[in-house]
Amino acid sequence: MARVVITGGAGFLGSHLADALVARGDDVVAIDNLITGNRANIEHLFGAPGFTFVEHDVSNYVWVPDDVDAVLHFASPASPIDYLEMPIQTLKVGSLGTHNTLGLAKAKNAAYFLASTSEVYGEPHVHPQTEDYWGNVNPVGPRGVYDEAKRFSEAMTMAYQRYHGLDTRIVRIFNTYGPRMRPDDGRVVSNFIVQALKREPLTVYGDGSQTRSFCFVDDEVRGLIALLDSDENNPVNIGNPNEFTILELAKIVLEVTGSSSTIERHPLPTDDPSQRKPEITRAREILGWEPQIQLREGIERTVEYFRTSI
Ligand code: UDP
Repeated sequence: MARVVITGGAGFLGSHLADALVARGDDVVAIDNLITGNRANIEHLFGAPGFTFVEHDVSNYVWVPDDVDAVLHFASPASPIDYLEMPIQTLKVGSLGTHNTLGLAKAKNAAYFLASTSEVYGEPHVHPQTEDYWGNVNPVGPRGVYDEAKRFSEAMTMAYQRYHGLDTRIVRIFNTYGPRMRPDDGRVVSNFIVQALKREPLTVYGDGSQTRSFCFVDDEVRGLIALLDSDENNPVNIGNPNEFTILELAKIVLEVTGSSSTIERHPLPTDDPSQRKPEITRAREILGWEPQIQLREGIERTVEYFRTSI
């Protein structure tokens, strides 16, 4: 049993993580400024023993009273449309927010867990992406605000580990989806499902041949907890290595929903990576983790959620 701080605790991933930690008996302090998080994601936890919610922007100084065993930094806009709308907040939470939460972990002698991203690989020249690949990121493009903040946050986390001896973890999260994504989140899975359920055209960006590898949230959270419980300080990819084109995803969403929606082409966003797939040997070997829920099943579960929530 531990006392764990989760920044972004009312967000999509943060709230699922809070659920899993509360279920195993940990005390959870969820911190969120609710700009992309949602109180509804954690309302069911408000009565749970040891659960607290604090509305706060961790880009500003952050303090939590009493003992803390681990600080998990999950706060950030995480959808391209969000970080394009909030470029400076995205840069601040990835840089200042990481520094503040590392400082909290150091002051509490707590472990630190950084939610990083496959975006650190940018437009990858190594496929699938291994953790030792340094990536290919455009620092001045519109996505750079997220990618570079996360790259900085990894560097800062490693510096605290090397210089202060902090016990740190870095996960690189690949396209994760599932219940509690916002209907207007803008990411491809939620967009396609909401569009299909409303019988609106599915908005395919570019020619739809770009690939992503989609991980269902339950698998992702199991991997995050396995990494938290390990003693691995190097970055670990946690994602589902089954790779799909965006057109294949559109087809699966249409099949699962039985929707008559058509497909509508839109311009490809700037610096949209053409391919992405995690190499997960490290997670398999060190954590004994691999995903269990494949795309069709995960989409079915996510469709069920959106049917009742939109
Ligand atoms: N995409 C799309 N239609 C949408 C939303 C996204 O075709 O309505 C594409 C997007 O261009 C990208 C992929 O789907 O190639 C994944 O986009 P998402 O925003 O989900 O995440 P990313 O992996 O780009 O951060």
